[in-house]
Amino acid sequence: SLKAGIVGLPNVGKSTLFNAVVENGKAQAANFPFCTIEPNVGIVAVPDSRLQVLSNLSKSQKSVPASIEFVDIAGLVKGASQGEGLGNKFLSHIREVDSILQVVRCFEDNDIVHVSGQVDPKSDIDVINLELAFSDLDQIEKRIEKLKKSKSNNSQVKAKEEAEKSALERIQEALLGESDLASPENNPHVKNVMELASELQSGIVTVSAQVESELTELPSEERIEFLTSLGVDESGLGNLIRATYNLLGLRTYFTSGEKETKAWTIHAGMTAPQAAGVIHSDFEKGFIRAETVAYNDFVAAGSLSAAREKGVLRSEGKDYVVQEGDVMLFRFNV
Ligand code: GDP
Repeated sequence: SLKAGIVGLPNVGKSTLFNAVVENGKAQAANFPFCTIEPNVGIVAVPDSRLQVLSNLSKSQKSVPASIEFVDIAGLVKGASQGEGLGNKFLSHIREVDSILQVVRCFEDNDIVHVSGQVDPKSDIDVINLELAFSDLDQIEKRIEKLKKSKSNNSQVKAKEEAEKSALERIQEALLGESDLASPENNPHVKNVMELASELQSGIVTVSAQVESELTELPSEERIEFLTSLGVDESGLGNLIRATYNLLGLRTYFTSGEKETKAWTIHAGMTAPQAAGVIHSDFEKGFIRAETVAYNDFVAAGSLSAAREKGVLRSEGKDYVVQEGDVMLFRFNV
C-alpha cells in the first residue's frame, strides 16, 4: 500500500497521533489485518461507509476496506539536512514515502517543552520545510554533478540528460527562492496554519491527537458522549485518513458479490484494464470489458441484477476511465 510519512519537530504530537491512528484502526475492524509492521509503521483501513452498504446488498461473507500505510518519522530537527539529530537516518526514511504529513503544534502546555521555546506553528513549518528543501537540494546537486560527468556519445541519451539537467536546475532555483511565507494573523495558531496551508496549496485537517488518543481508551458507547461534549460529531481521524488517501491521488472502486465486497485502490485516471490489473495482472492482460455501475445507482437499484434491468449497469471497454465509487465486474480471457 501507499505510504504517508508523519514528520514534525520533536514534541509536537507525532507519536501520539500515529498511535491513535493505529489503535483506532485496530478497534474499528476485527476482520482487517491491522498491523504495526514495525514500531513506527502501521496499516489502516480507509473508512468508507459505502463498503458495508454494498456488502449488505450483496450479502457478502466479508468486506475488505482499502488501506494506506502511516509511517512515524522521527528525527527532523533544525539542521537535520546537515546531519543534526538523526540526520541521515531521517532522510532515508522520508525518501520511502509517497506523501508527507506535517504535524504542527497548536496546543499550549507549559509542561511540554517546545524545542524552540514557544509555540509558533508558522516558524515550525518554516524550519521543517527548509530542512526538506535542503535535503531536496542536496539530492538535486548530486544528480546534476553526475549528469555533468556523463560521457555518453549517443545523441538520444545526451538529449535526455540535457533535458533532465535543465529540469533539475529549474527546481533548484524554485527551492532556493521559496522563503517568502505567509503574513502572520492575529488569530490563534490554527488560523495561522490554515492560511499558510492555503498559500502552500496543502490540504489541512485539524485534529487534537490528545483527544483522539483519549478516545481510543474509551468504550465505544462513551466515545460519542465525549465527542458531543467537545461539540463534534465524528473523530478527526477518519477525516485525516481520507484526506491522506486523496492527497496521494488515490481513488476507490469496488468489487461486490456474494463472496465478498472489496474496496480497491487505484490512481486517479486509471483505465478499466489498469484497474483490473490491481486485482491480478491476468485480468489486465486478458481484459475484454467491464460491467460497471456507479455506487449510487447500484444502491438505488438494490442489486446487480436490478441494476442490469434498469439499464444503469454499463458495459465499458478498454478506454474507460474508472470513476470514484464504481462497482465493477471484469470480463477477461485467460
Ligand atoms: P513527538 O515527539 O512529536 O512524537 O510528540 P509526542 O507524541 O511524544 O507528544 C509530546 C507530548 O505532547 C505528549 O506529552 C503528548 O501527550 C502531548 N500531546 C500530543 N498531541 C497533543 C495534542 O494534540 N494536544 C495536547 N494538549 N497535547 C498533545
